[in-house]
Amino acid sequence: MQNTDIKNTDKPQDISEAARKKKVNLDIELYKKNWSDLCEKGYSSKLIVKNVPIKGLGVFADRDYKALEVLDYFHCIISGWRSKYIGDPQYRRYAYWSLCDCDACKEHGARGLILLGAGSVINSAATEAEGNIEIVKIISSRLAVAVARRDIIAGEEIVTWHGQDYYDGWCAPRYTQATETKKEEAKKQTLQALI
Ligand SMILES: [Zn+2]
Repeated sequence: MQNTDIKNTDKPQDISEAARKKKVNLDIELYKKNWSDLCEKGYSSKLIVKNVPIKGLGVFADRDYKALEVLDYFHCIISGWRSKYIGDPQYRRYAYWSLCDCDACKEHGARGLILLGAGSVINSAATEAEGNIEIVKIISSRLAVAVARRDIIAGEEIVTWHGQDYYDGWCAPRYTQATETKKEEAKKQTLQALI
């Protein structure tokens, strides 16, 4: 499962966006083969799913991972319809999108992927830089692969970046509401203390 040509050092590796993309593209066939081998042998995810304050469920690293290492494989439901025709907000909230340069994508939009298992509850990062994994989408295999964007420490929450619009629409309102609730509770407590 490990990428053999990634140096096994203890120093965090700094990998440029372009180098990472190139490596991931080169490894797609390898991911497909590894996943098909794992499916023959029998596979169980090692990642940890648990509650995170405000966010709901989240996914955590079971051990340390090196940059570009595969954390997990997720079987996916691929949307029958393309993104221009999918209006259901809950589908849009959970979907990952696979967009390329083909005519169908240009005309009708991206194919949607719903990651199953732990993949379904990976939270959004708060900024692009904070995202510690990349989700590689392989439509032909109904497969998504979580690849480390940088070194990840055991117990760290794994988060991915869905873009600013996604963050502003789905994540920011929950944080604002939670902050407001906290402020109101603090106010109530202060008032009670004064009585
Ligand atoms: Zn396409």
